[in-house]
Amino acid sequence: MGENTKIEWATHTFNPWWGCVKVSEACKHCYAEAWAKRVGQPVWGPKSDRRFFGEQHWSAPLGWNRKAASASERPRVFCASMADVFEDRDELEPWRRKLWALIEETPHLDWLLLTKRPSNVPRLAGWSRDWPGNVWLGTTVELQKRADELLPYLAAIPAKVRFISAEPLLGPLDLEPYLGSSIDWLITGGESGPKARPASPTWFRSLLTQCMENDVAFHFKQWGDWAPGNGINLPQRKVLREQVAADGTRMVRVGKKVAGRDLDGAEWDQLPKARAI
Ligand code: SF4
Repeated sequence: MGENTKIEWATHTFNPWWGCVKVSEACKHCYAEAWAKRVGQPVWGPKSDRRFFGEQHWSAPLGWNRKAASASERPRVFCASMADVFEDRDELEPWRRKLWALIEETPHLDWLLLTKRPSNVPRLAGWSRDWPGNVWLGTTVELQKRADELLPYLAAIPAKVRFISAEPLLGPLDLEPYLGSSIDWLITGGESGPKARPASPTWFRSLLTQCMENDVAFHFKQWGDWAPGNGINLPQRKVLREQVAADGTRMVRVGKKVAGRDLDGAEWDQLPKARAI
């Protein structure tokens, strides 16, 4: 999570609060922290206060839900881009309970809860066995060690859709033990921002193949700031830096917009089929 501008795989974003603590390699260049600082909200770290919101903010999803009742497609609400809803901190408890109530009050919205703390879910979620059918639960997996540590927790939660956000992807992933049986959707992409780390094209291709083989929906969000040198019309582009990726591909830093989201000639925007719970 992190980027609070346009999130390609969701239709709406809702933040029950702002603020968090960094917990993994994927958090290193947290966009949300940088954005919060920029707008004068020092809400990151264990000792900082979080930022909370009033009723007007909380009523927005009720309006989306009313509209969605007669719409042909179910809106997907990303929760949260400026926090982790499963951060374990006492002052968040009443706000978390408010969120669970809101989710139950809005059955026409699919709520996409993305966390880097899936081990906290059984203790902090509003439900144990009977999860509402409008909650999709995801966890971030940027390296193999995170996959092995976090995916068993995700697999044990009876959410309607379970998904992986492999973004920013920082290494190759072998997800065979988890895909198919317990994962419905995989989102992946490279990192953007001033200190972005390049991702190897081989890592993305391998994830695509693994998803295809296991009938898991695949979404390639973006290359990030770095793109493979081949295929980009370099003479017309301002190449800021070059680097050789782990698979020997020449990567060029051209910026997120130019790098785009085309993976081997296609854009990948698949959505999951919900499992029966
Ligand atoms: S968990 Fe998400 S919001 Fe929290 S620090 Fe990490 S990237 Fe930022």
